Amino acid sequence: MINKIIDFRSDTVTKPTTGMLDAMMSAKVGDDVFGEDETVHELETKLAGLFNMEAGLFCPSGTMTNQIGIKCFTQPMDEVICDQTAHVYRYEIGGIAFHSAASVRLLHGERGILTPELIEPEINEDNIHYPNSSLVVLENTVNKGGGSCYSLSQIASIHHLCNIKGLKLHLDGARIFNALTATGDSAYNYGKYFDGISVCLSKGLGAPVGSVLLGSKTTIHKAKKIRKAFGGGMRQAGFLAAAGIYSLDNHIERLKDDHKHAKNLAVALLQTSYVKSVMPVETNIVIFEVSKGMAEKVVHQFKEKGLLCNTTSSSTVRFVTHLDISPSMVDEAIEIILHLR
Ligand SMILES: *Cc1c(COP(=O)(O)O)cnc(C)c1O
Repeated sequence: MINKIIDFRSDTVTKPTTGMLDAMMSAKVGDDVFGEDETVHELETKLAGLFNMEAGLFCPSGTMTNQIGIKCFTQPMDEVICDQTAHVYRYEIGGIAFHSAASVRLLHGERGILTPELIEPEINEDNIHYPNSSLVVLENTVNKGGGSCYSLSQIASIHHLCNIKGLKLHLDGARIFNALTATGDSAYNYGKYFDGISVCLSKGLGAPVGSVLLGSKTTIHKAKKIRKAFGGGMRQAGFLAAAGIYSLDNHIERLKDDHKHAKNLAVALLQTSYVKSVMPVETNIVIFEVSKGMAEKVVHQFKEKGLLCNTTSSSTVRFVTHLDISPSMVDEAIEIILHLR
């Protein structure tokens, strides 16, 4: 029997559903660089409202919304504080140096989760030798932390410290709706803690393209100019924004299914002899450890069975569940996991 490919490489591999395509095809559009695309405006306003922030800016990628945010909140020669696993540091090709001419102070959080106790000693005092610490970036959920989540109270305590020390706080919320689903926190309560929030529509939410940067009206006014300088101004982008609106209306509630699927996969992995350990599963990411240097081989063995996944190091493998993974595909994946080799 030829099985259907089960693609656990990333939650970015999803294809638009027919409902989403219908919404895209019937979108009202205009030239968004002229501020005339009402669907883009609707998406930005809708997300800003959800997170209790003043304004939003639709961009082509989460890398762009993060980098624009960082540029809005820093000056050249400043320093950005983040976890050593942070996407903004590791996977945005040195964008902080390139776009913002800022240095980075890397912290070692537990599964990427920072605390005020970790951050405070790393904030530079005013000294002629030191860069000015001006921004803390959090990631929720933490990709490299295996989808680990911050609770709102953890965020509140970090915000409190930033407020006292005069630092801005930016959230890389590529998977923020996964975090909200897992913690039960409400998006509305996030707005008061962050100066900027980047929300991805093309990860768990299943839209083909797009991220939105949220912030104050002043921040978004500045961000719009930076987006233009980055070449990110889009014209009839409402077709894409419509997919984002559809995903917010239809694909948030179901994220709990992805989380349940991830937990079931972890249970199966723990029953095998080739898996040494599995990181605690909080959301839609499962990172597991195999024997030293064996990750590539395990990924290859899975691929031969029609299950696609990626290594995250020479001894760790990652599965990500998403919209295009059905319960029967999870059952099939569990069979493959239990009978590998
Ligand atoms: C995917 C991702 C982003 C943004 O990625 P793009 O591919 O540029 O949209 C940002 N942060 C995290 C944690 C991510 O996983």
